[in-house]
Amino acid sequence: MIAKNKICAVVAAANSRAMWRQLESVLGDKQAGRGGRDKAVELRLDWLEDDGEIARFLRQLSEAKPQATMIATCRRREAGGKYRGSIGAQLAHLAEAMRAGCRWCDLEIESIRECNPELLDVLLGDGRRIASAHFFSRMPRHLDRVAAELSRSRSDAIKIAARCDSLAEGLKLLRLARKRRDFIGIPMGECTLALRVLALRYGGALSYAPVENATAPGQVSLDQMTNLYRADRLNQRTRVYGIIGNPVAHSLSPVIQNAAFQSRHINAVYLPFLVNDLRDFLNAIEPLGIAGFSVTIPHKQSILRHLDDCDPLAAAIGAVNTVVVRGRGKLYGYNTDYVGVLRALESRILLRGSRVLILGAGGAARAVAFALAQAGAAVCIAARRRKRAAKLARAVHGEAIEFRHLRVANRPREKHEFFDAIVNATPVGMHPHVHDSPLETRDLNCRLVFDTIYRPQMTKLLRLAARRGIETVSGIEMFLAQGTAQFEIWTGERAPAQLMRTVAMCALGGEAETGSRGGRGGKGKTRR
Ligand code: NAP
Repeated sequence: MIAKNKICAVVAAANSRAMWRQLESVLGDKQAGRGGRDKAVELRLDWLEDDGEIARFLRQLSEAKPQATMIATCRRREAGGKYRGSIGAQLAHLAEAMRAGCRWCDLEIESIRECNPELLDVLLGDGRRIASAHFFSRMPRHLDRVAAELSRSRSDAIKIAARCDSLAEGLKLLRLARKRRDFIGIPMGECTLALRVLALRYGGALSYAPVENATAPGQVSLDQMTNLYRADRLNQRTRVYGIIGNPVAHSLSPVIQNAAFQSRHINAVYLPFLVNDLRDFLNAIEPLGIAGFSVTIPHKQSILRHLDDCDPLAAAIGAVNTVVVRGRGKLYGYNTDYVGVLRALESRILLRGSRVLILGAGGAARAVAFALAQAGAAVCIAARRRKRAAKLARAVHGEAIEFRHLRVANRPREKHEFFDAIVNATPVGMHPHVHDSPLETRDLNCRLVFDTIYRPQMTKLLRLAARRGIETVSGIEMFLAQGTAQFEIWTGERAPAQLMRTVAMCALGGEAETGSRGGRGGKGKTRR
């Protein structure tokens, strides 16, 4: 065992002062000298800008002698680090770090190959050694051979960090931990976030997480690793949930679902999976022990082909945003966006008999259209692709409208369409394209505008509407309602709705209010 706490905080900065500040923040003690006994910290000496800064930092370390399990790393450029000096200078820094209180050092295979093993033993003394190999551009074909070479180097633990372009590759790496003691497997790359969190569950000796500066692609911050995903507390009984999509990083679902699991004392974790290839994800369900998942852009419709069964409502909508993995890996689909739309709108507008325009004809638009039509609204669809709009309009006995006819500039004033509500179900205006809006202020001939986007909370479209005195509803309302419904489907327990709202609002930080009553909107429902 390298350290009791297996989440290893990575401290990396260009100068000793910043590096010290990071170390203090990890140890939670102003002097960085007491406490933190169980913590593991990697000190990336190679990030310090020159030998002088390294010496300065190590002097300070030697004086304070923190009790944490510290791992000194001074990785050379040849091995993907930042240190420009010779191997001799690298070893001298590592030896000094050991004297200053580091219990471990990490030495890369490129340096090990160049050194006499006896010399390394003498130089690094009683310190314990991690032998590491890094593959930044692709996964090595023969992982076992790499592991064998590292093991021959008289080290106490071995580490392989490799770029993984799929979950299948990442799993191959993590599984090595089942065969070897004190093995650290680090999947690198955009699609590996979930695997980094789950690495310890596979028996990995450590999982690295940066305090401030990411030192490898796909890292999860120390704060998220510890507090959001609680990676060190996951065990074989932990139920894994997640969200699949692309993009997925902006999603607040991990924030609300993990908070809900914690508050209900459920041994489960919810992770983001950046998925391009659905098959790769589906093949990882069983080995990762995935019990259910949310589905977002662009898989809401394509996932249907892979389900064993589907809730009739989701089948009618033709889009699934929630999947439950039942016995023997059978997949069952639901659509909770439907409920989300109704909960977001029914307290604000009398849906029966109203005329609602929906922008877009994708997965979210289909859920909105079915929900509103079922509630008695006359639904109009305007989408980029006319055929798709017409198909959805037919399915809900509504009407397809050409996008250009919504623009005041294109029509005489008397022919300008009026709606009780306009719903944006396109991603136009979503982070990072926050300055885009699907319609202009003068095109908003309606009483209420609902934007399904929740990041940002106040989109440009909503701001334009509010400026015209039109009532606005943010997508966060739909998001929270669909999220609580998902939690209830997966766990069979009542969702802690208020807590989920609070953490979502906190995560959205200083963004504007959820919704606003426009100048013309009074209390109660908007009526025709
Ligand atoms: P989707 O299935 O990919 O559908 C997107 C729709 O928007 C398609 O009709 C697409 O047209 C249209 N579109 C895309 N870019 C456009 C553009 N530049 N101009 C005009 N139309 C454009 O995606 P989705 O799952 O329905 O999601 C759509 C939005 O709903 C996203 O912003 C998502 O965040 C939001 N959403 C929110 C919640 C919530 O809980 N608040 C839940 C679900 C979705 P084409 O078919 O021509 O590409």
